[in-house]
Amino acid sequence: MITAVANQRAIMKAKKFDTIAVHGVYNAEAALANQGSIIEPAYLSPAQHFENSDHMEAALAYLMPSWTYSRIANPTVGYLEETLSLLEGYGYDGEVSSCVTSSGMSAVFMATNPFLANPEPGTNIVVSAKCYGGSFMLFGQRYGHERGIEVRWVADPLNNDEWAEKIDEQTRFVFGEMPSNPGLSLMDIPAVAKLAHAVGAPLIVDPTVATPALMRPLTMGADIIVHSVSKSMATSGFAIAGALIARHNIVSKFGPDELRQNFAMYVKLLPFRDHGPGLSPFNALMILNDLRTLRMRLDKASRSSQQVAEFLASQPQIEAVQYPGLASFAGHTIAQRDMWLVDAEEEYGEPVNRYGHLLSFTVAGGHQAARRLFDRLQMIWRATDLGRIKSVATIPTISTHQQQGDAGRELAAVPANLIRLNVGAENPADIMADLAQAMA
Ligand SMILES: *Cc1c(COP(=O)(O)O)cnc(C)c1O
Repeated sequence: MITAVANQRAIMKAKKFDTIAVHGVYNAEAALANQGSIIEPAYLSPAQHFENSDHMEAALAYLMPSWTYSRIANPTVGYLEETLSLLEGYGYDGEVSSCVTSSGMSAVFMATNPFLANPEPGTNIVVSAKCYGGSFMLFGQRYGHERGIEVRWVADPLNNDEWAEKIDEQTRFVFGEMPSNPGLSLMDIPAVAKLAHAVGAPLIVDPTVATPALMRPLTMGADIIVHSVSKSMATSGFAIAGALIARHNIVSKFGPDELRQNFAMYVKLLPFRDHGPGLSPFNALMILNDLRTLRMRLDKASRSSQQVAEFLASQPQIEAVQYPGLASFAGHTIAQRDMWLVDAEEEYGEPVNRYGHLLSFTVAGGHQAARRLFDRLQMIWRATDLGRIKSVATIPTISTHQQQGDAGRELAAVPANLIRLNVGAENPADIMADLAQAMA
């Protein structure tokens, strides 16, 4: 069984991105063991029946492939994990494993918490302040205030000197988003990876906003990837989910050998089992279905977003637009270097940059003006959500980044007049028309 999966993994690793997204490792052999079903079956059963006591004992000792109990492993969730490993590892010359979790936040937690065991005086973590509100609260409140870990915020993730100043021998991990939610801030992953590795710390990157269709940080020096799978990957909006995806043999002078050798498997078999943030297999199937079209969706939505960003940037009611595809944007050069539509050559004859479907903009006239514009949107949904196939907007100050307070928002550069917009797959003319009538 192990050999069969390893063989299929090797076969699929040689395939193109779309082919992997459509099939994962589910092949004819697997289908024949599942009544011939051409779609991955949803194994909703919480537990596996064992032939006899020997079988049970060996399975529970992790001596043989088995799934035992759905909190630890499940065949349908396993198909999702294999697909994500292949997509995130696309173009990476080495082994990659995944652990799928019940939410993006549980993935961020599972990817970072194992490095914080037995803290000593001086133990610190170095994290970009320009990150998702939930991650900001996890690092600042849960790790910082509750557990006394020193949290060193990097205010400008594009400034490599700031990372260099803050990373030291007692840094357990380095964390950043690329691009960030909601400010679309960028970071120089290869440069920051070098700084982290020089002190034996892993670089953990959250590229939720980019997805592997546009960027794969494992190929750029990152050790561990976390995703809010709930977003563009599960674009239909049928599931909350997360994933921790790691290359084998990560850099970390902290922790046991097993943690370094295969971090995702280490987490899955031990801390993940004990903390219990498992994903429902039904949700895993919903996500597999959405993942099959990831590349084409990101291409279309990125092109629409570019149009919407340029439109907004030309409006007098808008102070500034943050979108990596705008030449005026602070991180544009890095975005141009790092954000490419995967396998674009066949379709476009050359590599093409694509910058994703999240943008944000500040409204002239401050917070109240932003609220007035927001309240007048007629088609674009008002919700704390992104990655959807439908356009959705939010005001981060009163939603995703509400609880971190004024000081926290200033650190994270989330102004009160900022609106975050997720551009969906509607015709971009209708998205711009809705924005135009709201601005008017
Ligand atoms: C939404 C989000 C998260 C948290 O994911 P959930 O699935 O909502 O738990 C983490 N990182 C980023 C960048 C996000 O946008």
